[in-house]
Amino acid sequence: MKVGIIGTGYVGLPTGVGLAELGNEVVCIDKDENKINMLNSGQLTLFEGGLEGLFRKNTASEKLRFTTSMKEGVEGADLVMIAVGTPPHPVTKEADMQYIHAAARELALYLTGYTVVVTKSTVPVGTGDVVESLIKENNPQADFDVVSLPEFLREGFAIHDFFNPDRIVIGADTERARNVLKELYKPFEGKTKMLFVKRRSSETIKYASNAFLAIKIHYINEMADFCEKSGADVYEVAQGMGLDSRIGPRFLNPGPGYGGSCFPKDTNAMAAMGRANGVSLSLIEAAISGNDARKAAMAGRVLAQIKSNPQAKIAVWGLAFKDGTDDCRESPAMQIVGELLKHNANITAYDPQAMKNAAKLVGDKIKYASDMYEAAKDAEVLVILTEWPDFRQADMQKVRAQMKTLNIVDLRNLLNPDDMRAMGFKYQGIGR
Ligand code: NAD
Repeated sequence: MKVGIIGTGYVGLPTGVGLAELGNEVVCIDKDENKINMLNSGQLTLFEGGLEGLFRKNTASEKLRFTTSMKEGVEGADLVMIAVGTPPHPVTKEADMQYIHAAARELALYLTGYTVVVTKSTVPVGTGDVVESLIKENNPQADFDVVSLPEFLREGFAIHDFFNPDRIVIGADTERARNVLKELYKPFEGKTKMLFVKRRSSETIKYASNAFLAIKIHYINEMADFCEKSGADVYEVAQGMGLDSRIGPRFLNPGPGYGGSCFPKDTNAMAAMGRANGVSLSLIEAAISGNDARKAAMAGRVLAQIKSNPQAKIAVWGLAFKDGTDDCRESPAMQIVGELLKHNANITAYDPQAMKNAAKLVGDKIKYASDMYEAAKDAEVLVILTEWPDFRQADMQKVRAQMKTLNIVDLRNLLNPDDMRAMGFKYQGIGR
């Protein structure tokens, strides 16, 4: 099948690579010339485990190509996917639809023959209808259907998730479009549950799923706070809860709050949709405000450690919103760093992948170390903010020898509290 993908970011690029690997002819389109030039010269524009090998293989065989030209990517395509960003509006927090609308208007001009236009971006309910009318307005002769195909990949596991999806949700209102999608996903037949639903249901499934996961994280974070006061251990509590098959063990890891490019944006967008429809989504609203407050509370725990010397060096391990990615968008780590900077904190940070992206956000307001031990040198407190396995496996004797004061605030519970205390560290984790 000939596939055009508009937007070559964290979703578009792995999806393009995956679809090419399945044998499709894929053209990835992005208006960011710099990105396309890098990709055309063989450089990846983002970090994802397993991406590079498949990228090289499929660009070499020319199954996968990159262009800034909408015409080149859309003309002759059987299927065009829109995978552009839908960031939160700075004031209303609704999904900002300008990139989706621009892509719809532009792609309309180059449709040839029957084409399925797919929204892969996370979009508010009813967007399929809007995309449909924008295409009609700009190309009244076009023969097309608009389908919602929400993306459920996890950053850091994008390639794994592309080839092993939990489910594929397809919101298509015509038989013709459903058949095209069945053809595209034929390699997954019998291996993955394929759910065909109304387009509006499909658009809702994505937000409802992300909001549910965000609430689950917020729930266990509140339980962690409770355990700290009550003398329980949140891990034992989570384990006991997770053994109930109705609850399940995943997303019961306490931490500094949820973040990343999806959960904060999607919970806010869902809450805004609730308000617009006059429906109270009180659980989502509570998770949003509780999660926001949590970042400041976590920064407070760090500041409390350096109360007597506010200029003490703080070593920060981890800036990405989670391990396995270089993405710092809405990263709890960056938000906590931001809170600390409001108090003029003296921070030296290390992250295995995300320092370049972090520097775009905070520049030289913090220092960057070349490894985790250098970050810890002369520090009076070490704060762990991202769950990279490197930190779990750190040589803590070496860290001990580097630090000025042996004090750890482990907001990801990566280290063993008993071991740390036995080594002489003052150690504070979460929920135990
Ligand atoms: P991203 O910002 O990494 O990439 C978007 C790309 O689209 C950018 O490269 C931008 O230059 C390009 N673009 C914007 N307008 C364009 C246009 N008119 N023509 C061509 N290119 C254009 O975004 P992302 O993280 O890949 O997210 C894309 C969508 O997928 C969002 O709606 C997001 O909510 C959703 N989503 C993301 C994830 C994730 O893990 N990142 C997971 C599931 C769903």
